[in-house]
Parts: sequence; structure tokens; C-alpha cells
Amino acid sequence: MSLVPDTDGLSEDHLLLIETVADFAKKELLPLDRAWDQSEGTVYDVLPQLGEMGLMTLCVPEAYGGLECPYRVYAAIAHELAKWSPSTSVTVAVHSMVGRIIHKYGNAAIHDMCLSGWSDVRHFGAFALSEAGAGSDAAAVKTMAVESDDGYRISGEKMWITNGMHARWFLTLARLQGAPDGESLCAFLIDGDDPGLQRSQIHGKLGIRGSETAVIHLDQVFVPKDRLLGDRGEGLKVCLSSLNEGRIGIAAQACGIAEACLEEMTSYASHREQFGKPIGKFQAIGDMLADSAVELEASKNLIWRAATTVDLGQSDRSECSMAKLYASESANRIAYRAVQVHGGSGFVHECRVEQLFRDARVTPIYEGTSEVQRMVIAACLAKKAG
Ligand SMILES: Cc1cc2nc3c(=O)[nH]c(=O)nc-3n(C[C@H](O)[C@H](O)[C@H](O)COP(=O)(O)OP(=O)(O)OC[C@H]3O[C@@H](n4cnc5c(N)ncnc54)[C@H](O)[C@@H]3O)c2cc1C
Repeated sequence: MSLVPDTDGLSEDHLLLIETVADFAKKELLPLDRAWDQSEGTVYDVLPQLGEMGLMTLCVPEAYGGLECPYRVYAAIAHELAKWSPSTSVTVAVHSMVGRIIHKYGNAAIHDMCLSGWSDVRHFGAFALSEAGAGSDAAAVKTMAVESDDGYRISGEKMWITNGMHARWFLTLARLQGAPDGESLCAFLIDGDDPGLQRSQIHGKLGIRGSETAVIHLDQVFVPKDRLLGDRGEGLKVCLSSLNEGRIGIAAQACGIAEACLEEMTSYASHREQFGKPIGKFQAIGDMLADSAVELEASKNLIWRAATTVDLGQSDRSECSMAKLYASESANRIAYRAVQVHGGSGFVHECRVEQLFRDARVTPIYEGTSEVQRMVIAACLAKKAG
């Protein structure tokens, strides 16, 4: 059960890649993911392997050694990874999003410096937008950039940064000191190897515990002029336009979790017996399976449609938001049912749905909460209505 509804437009190589990733994730990543959940270990350890398979450069142009996949293929791979390791899926999604931003907004020198080595762990990427006081309201960031002759000095603190413990490149949003309102928000590419950047891990997460989440402290970190991405004042546009496509990756992650839940509960319902028959024969259980199957299928279609519009260059923001909103909310409903179908067995770690239930919970929160997705969809509707 892949995300791909048909093979239309996808090459044999793409289909083979999706199949290979599914196989690899099931055999290699699932046991690791289960262990990371207990130890708060990190996906970072398997990045070299992911890099060799091309998974760190899915969206990077072939000219820089990447696979230059259509967005639909990227979404299908995010889904396969998430089915067996949600933590790996989000790690790859964030790294891929930063690569796309660098490709879109960086100059040739930055492309050569970063993208040529994008499959290498030494070029691991993170997206550092959120702060303690700026989450849904991204424009409220307080991180400051002070201009100097040859570049900028950036100071502030970024919260909740996925990949933050090991990333080399941080795409960040800061306020340019002295710039007029409306022109002050700028996107910068920070080199984590430069002096002034400190990282501390956020422990005790509910789910996706194999994925790194960090606080990034910036103390006058120097950024040369050509690592201002986009024009001055375009920082929010740079970040939000990329987040829009990035949301498909999170939708695909949610969908992978939901699919794993449905498979687990279907299997359990067919062999767990009560009152002398498999519980799947009871209508109440059958209803839960049926509702989950329908919601999963609807998620897949929304994701595929959104990814197709990106491939065609026709994406309006609402398609990505619809996919993210529906896939993440339905994944949580499906994960809830998966635990319910398992009864008491679903309440302990030994049973995988216990972890999937927790892993699903973050999907309606990061890369824009469900409430924010509804705001985006409503704004698009209002715009179309004139
Ligand atoms: C595990 C994890 C990883 C993350 N990774 C990253 C990352 O890599 N990079 C990064 O920059 N950020 C990251 N984030 C941050 C994430 O994007 C934010 O948590 C999210 O955008 C919500 O912001 P907030 O937590 O400040 O909540 P708030 O914005 O304070 O929202 C709290 C509640 O109020 C609601 N709300 C807020 N405004 C409105 C409104 N106008 N109308 C209706 N309801 C509203 C929200 O929907 C939410 O329910 C991550 C978060 C987590 C938990």
C-alpha cells in the first residue's frame, strides 16, 4: 500500500527507488526507530547510509549530484520512511526543505559550497524559524541581525529546531537592525561551524524521539553578505513559501504513521478472539477499520494532488495546507483507533501502536498547526471569492 495511486509520469527508476526505500525502512530502520524511542538516540547515526541511497538529495538537481526527483516521488518516500520510522522521515524532510531553499535563493557559490555535498553529513541542514515567543506568529521573531561592512552579525535564540544538534547549515529568520518596518525580516544561511553558535538538546519529547530537537543560541554569529537569501524584507516570504511545500512532507509523514496503524489494527482484529470469534467480526471494530481506511485513502489523494500541483508549478497554498491538515488530524484519529482496537495491549511500549499514537501527535503541530492551516485555507477561499 504505497502513496502512489498510479505510475503515471513516474519512471521505472522512481518506482524502484520507492520500493527499495520501503524495504530498507522496514528491515533496517524499524528496529532502530523502536530503540531510539526508548533511548532518545538519533537518526543522525544512519545519515551516511541514507546519503548513499540518495535520500539526502532527493530534491537536489542532478547537476549537484542529487536525484532531482519529482515532488510526488519525494512525498512517496517520506511516506515509506514514516511508516517504519517517523523520526527518519521528519529528519529527511527538514534537510530536504533547506536544500530546496538554498537552491531557490542561493547564488552559484553557495550552491557549489552546500549542494555539491548535500548528501554528506557534514552538510546536514536545519530550518531555524521558531523562537520561544514566535511560533504560529513567525513574524514576531526577535533574533537580530546587525549589518557590518562585509556581512551581518546575528544574535538570538531559536527553539524546537529539528536536526539542530548536528546540522551544519541553519536557514534562519532574523530582524535587520535599523531597517524600516516591512523591510526588516530577512532570511540568512548560518554556518553552524562558525563561532558563536551553541546547541542544547530538548529532552523528554512525547514522540518522534529519534529526531533531534534543539535550542540554538546565536551570539553575534557572522554571516557574509551573499548568505542573505532573498532580498531584504523578503525573509518571511522565503521561509513561508518553502514551508508550504514542506507541509506535504509532514502530511506524508502523518499518512505513513496512519498506514502503519491501520495495518497493525487490521492484523490484530483478525486474530484476537473474544466471545468466541475474532474481534474484527464485531461491527464496532469493523467500523473503526473502515473509517480508518477511508480517511487514509482521502489523505493519500490530497497529498498526491498537492504534490502534483508542486510538480506542475501550479501550487496554491491551500492544497498543501489541506493535505497537511487532513492527513495529520486523521492520522491522530486512526492512531487513537489503533490503540482502541488493541485494548490493553495497545497501551504498552511492546505494542508498536503505542509509539505510533505518540509519534502522530506532533504532526498537527509542527510546520504550522492545524489552526494555522485552516487560516491559510480560509484566506485562499476569500482571495478566490474576490
Ligand atoms: C518536535 C518539534 C519539532 C519542531 N521543529 C521545528 C523546526 O525544525 N524549525 C522550526 O522553526 N520550528 C520547529 N518546531 C516549532 C513548531 O513549528 C511550532 O511549535 C508551531 O509552529 C507552533 O508554535 P508554538 O509552539 O509557539 O505554538 P503557538 O503559536 O503559541 O500556538 C499555541 C496554540 O494556539 C493556536 N494559535 C496560535 N495562533 C492562533 C490563531 N491566530 N488562531 C487560532 N489559533 C491560534 C495554535 O494553533 C496552538 O494550538 C517544532 C516543534 C516541535 C514540537
